[in-house]
Amino acid sequence: MRLDGKVAIVTGAASGIGKRIAEVYAQHGAAVAIADLNLAGAQAVARELAAQGVRAIGIAMDVTDEAAVDAGVDAVVQQLGAVDILVSNAGIQIVDPVEKFSYADWKKLLAIHLDGAFLTTRACLRHMYARGKGGAIIYMGSVHSKLASPLKAPYVTAKHGLLGLARVVAKEGAAHGVRANVICPGFVRTPLVEKQIPEQAKEFGISEAEVVKNIMLKDTVDGEFTTLDDVAACALFFAGFETNALTGQSMVVSHGWYME
Ligand code: NAD
Repeated sequence: MRLDGKVAIVTGAASGIGKRIAEVYAQHGAAVAIADLNLAGAQAVARELAAQGVRAIGIAMDVTDEAAVDAGVDAVVQQLGAVDILVSNAGIQIVDPVEKFSYADWKKLLAIHLDGAFLTTRACLRHMYARGKGGAIIYMGSVHSKLASPLKAPYVTAKHGLLGLARVVAKEGAAHGVRANVICPGFVRTPLVEKQIPEQAKEFGISEAEVVKNIMLKDTVDGEFTTLDDVAACALFFAGFETNALTGQSMVVSHGWYME
């Protein structure tokens, strides 16, 4: 699948999954905007890509800030000419049992995952609809869009919520040729996951190796982590699939942890 001539915005692309998606989109011909809270990190990724001849820019964006999202998306359109693909990927994880969860942490997590998805979608749809050339909106869900784990109440809530948002955007966007889909990865070894291993070990009173084996990968078919490239391949497929035949869907990439 090629993305020649397309412009993609990937949020949270200074690190982890978003970074790999931006790299794979660039390898397949897209110009990419690396949008992240971490501007220095976003610019570093953009510089690496630009050194390979890719049109790439780093954009400072807190996805929970309405004005910053609107201004960031406008800047991408101004500098790269359009927006054809949005990957709403920025995310965090906070683990705690429900009875201990602080309201501030609950709201922070929902804001980044859900408000961020809404605000970036709205800003991109306005440009896509005005241009009349369709587009692809891709949400970074999780296996936690489909099932629950202890200690992750706001994360599971938010990731389930993205399925609903994608389905509405699929229905509204269809007349404009805009598709919306969700990728649902199992555990991928990124900074977000590395942080959880000692936290869960402490919370459950077990070793870090046991967290990986008996919690994180327990229900996979082969005890393997999902990789950055596995997730990026799904993101490429959703971005490159150009008809409304594939919209409002979710793709689980989790070594069989969750089976539809
Ligand atoms: P990561 O920590 O490596 O990267 C997340 C990026 O998001 C960072 O660059 C961070 O600066 C950015 N970010 C955080 N808050 C932001 C904000 N308010 N505005 C803009 N950028 C912000 O994490 P990752 O593992 O690559 O996670 C990316 C996405 O994938 C998240 O939505 C996560 O929930 C999802 N996901 C991850 C896994 C996994 O196992 N790693 C599994 C399923 C889903």
